[in-house]
Amino acid sequence: MNLSIVIPLLNEDESLPELTAWIEKVMMANAYSYEVIFVDDGSTDNSWKVIEELRAKNPQIKGIKFQRNYGKSAALNEGFKASQGDVIITMDADMQDSPDEIPSLLKMIVEDGFDLVSGWKKKRYDNTLTKNIPSKLFNAAARSMSKIKLHDFNCGLKAYSKKVVKSIEVYGEMHRYVPVLAKWAGFRKIGEKVVEHRARKFGVTKFGWSRFVNGFLDLMTIFFVGKFGKRPMHFFGLWGSFSFFIGLGIFTYLSISKFFFDAIGMTQRPLFYFALMMMVIGTQLFLAGFIGELISRNSAERNSYLIEEKVGL
Ligand code: UDP
Ligand code: MG
Repeated sequence: MNLSIVIPLLNEDESLPELTAWIEKVMMANAYSYEVIFVDDGSTDNSWKVIEELRAKNPQIKGIKFQRNYGKSAALNEGFKASQGDVIITMDADMQDSPDEIPSLLKMIVEDGFDLVSGWKKKRYDNTLTKNIPSKLFNAAARSMSKIKLHDFNCGLKAYSKKVVKSIEVYGEMHRYVPVLAKWAGFRKIGEKVVEHRARKFGVTKFGWSRFVNGFLDLMTIFFVGKFGKRPMHFFGLWGSFSFFIGLGIFTYLSISKFFFDAIGMTQRPLFYFALMMMVIGTQLFLAGFIGELISRNSAERNSYLIEEKVGL
């Protein structure tokens, strides 16, 4: 099998038949051997029934149904685990991504040797104010933090080589930053292709305003985990010690001026409380770092390296 198409969906029953027909048309035209994996992320409409009907007509259509809504990341993760193709394409179920883009994405993976190719919705058909502007900001921030030159991290249409999807875990809400996960796993050839974006034909968007808050928090996670995930002490220990020693320095100064120069009582001076605060905060940060180190030392991933090749072993 050379191609797996993974499609996460939540309440998209209206789009599924049309989307499937379009995918089948593209697959036929190019004579690909393929599978389509629909991951029903806890839909409450008829999506699963539609998927079963589609499968009855075409055995290349496969489905996974979640017990409840776990989120797009979880859906992608399960789809990745189940996929058997050498190249994996992800796309949204709402027909905003065009299946006609599949052949050229596939070509970039197979012929040009990319590990991951992300779609770039250069011209978007979404509500300008609530999506386009914040998305530009997020992408700029993600670019500068991850040093990956992509314009559109969160595009649903992406292509991966098999070894990428089998070595990353998309958790939380990290579907927005899958290219970053791929980079952490050591994949360097990350490319981009301008793709056609279409207006949503059926249904409504499944992400409301929460996308901005969550997107921002996940960006912070990317930053911290990427930089200090495996060595929390280097962050917390540094700033903890810094804060503690400033506090201690001020404390020493206050003590000396009290005992040798007969200044007014230490506790009457505002500086005393500042010193106290710095020492308490410093100790807290240091402890956070220490506990972080213990956790990362015990984590199952502490020594899970991805070995690319071996010789003589
Ligand atoms: N989706 C999902 N689980 C969720 C939310 C969304 O599987 O909890 C799917 C949704 O059905 C669609 C894709 O993720 O196929 C992208 O969602 P949507 O089109 O609502 O996002 P937008 O295009 O507005 O960013
Ligand atoms: Mg959409």
